Amino acid sequence: MLHETIGIYIHIPFCIKKCNYCDFPSLPGMDDCFEDYTNAVCREIEKAASDHSNKLADSVFFGGGTPSVLPARYISKIIDALSKGFKISENAEISIEVNPGTISQEKVMVYRELDFNRISIGFQSANNSLLKLMGRIHTKEMFEECVDRVKKCGFKNISADIIFGIPEQTMKDFQETVELALQKGVTHVSCYSLKLEEGTRWYELNEKGELPLVNEDLEREMYYWAINRLKDSGFIHYEISNFAKPGFQSQHNLKYWTDKPYLGFGAAAHSYMNNIRYSNIENPVEYIKRINEGKAAVDMSEPVGLDEKLSERFILGLRLIEGVNIKHLEKEFGNEAVQKYNEKINMLIKKNLICLEGDMLKLTNSGLDFANLVWLEFIT
Ligand code: SF4
Repeated sequence: MLHETIGIYIHIPFCIKKCNYCDFPSLPGMDDCFEDYTNAVCREIEKAASDHSNKLADSVFFGGGTPSVLPARYISKIIDALSKGFKISENAEISIEVNPGTISQEKVMVYRELDFNRISIGFQSANNSLLKLMGRIHTKEMFEECVDRVKKCGFKNISADIIFGIPEQTMKDFQETVELALQKGVTHVSCYSLKLEEGTRWYELNEKGELPLVNEDLEREMYYWAINRLKDSGFIHYEISNFAKPGFQSQHNLKYWTDKPYLGFGAAAHSYMNNIRYSNIENPVEYIKRINEGKAAVDMSEPVGLDEKLSERFILGLRLIEGVNIKHLEKEFGNEAVQKYNEKINMLIKKNLICLEGDMLKLTNSGLDFANLVWLEFIT
């Protein structure tokens, strides 16, 4: 029997401390909830499993928040519930996000025993003053130790998250960050430009004019420097912010960018299945309460119609450096539906923001700088 392949996402909404730029669904000081939260996630998994017995999970991703703040025995319990409830492919990519400030040798060993095969480390910067300014709990040295530990335990697929455009950051700071990640031998780098999101401490400071932001030219210079440096070191630039050594592209995240189905468990987790998108209630305490009362944790659910699906396929596909295959879209959605975008596509080609290479529609080099404007054109 052929199984439909899916990704599984587990959200761990806890952190030691809230970083100044963070708008992710994560809360500090929730240690008392860890056990109840774990039990609730396991219950949600058990309940969903029977509806998805024909699915095969080929990627599992523990994200947050900071999954590594959770004691390893709870991660183990969730993995156990997953293995009992779902078919997990033998070569599935099983990832966990860790904060270098919360990771002991013992935890890494347990992850390895639980068959995790990919570790994503929140590195962000090699400059300790900048890390402090960002409200991070770790130091450059902790990142170095963290990579050594995960390598020692046998992990080969190691990703580092890096942020650029941090207030007060110089080109040298940024270059040292990328160089350290390379020196430590990571196989994947996610390189994000700092975004000031409403509701964060830095957003407020910026509104008051009290945040010394990096100017736009320098921020772009950092991005292009990283692209060249990482490419020179054998990394493939495969998504606008993501780079991987051959064979180390994030299989789980590729599902999001190629519009594949996934199931999310835990507070604030999103799912996309059978052309329906839904998400769970964000507050972990409320999430636990609902699950314990036998209620659904889903807070929002909406069908994704064909027009919306096509629009998303363009937007997500244009995040990928290889672009989106127009012929595949025509086959799936019909020529007429795809041709509705011709005028916009031609306009963007004329502006040299996108180009057509064979059947692949992709961002040009200048399109990388204006990707947001390109994506806007495909919103219906
Ligand atoms: S560690 Fe990550 S999720 Fe937690 S507060 Fe900082 S940026 Fe947000």
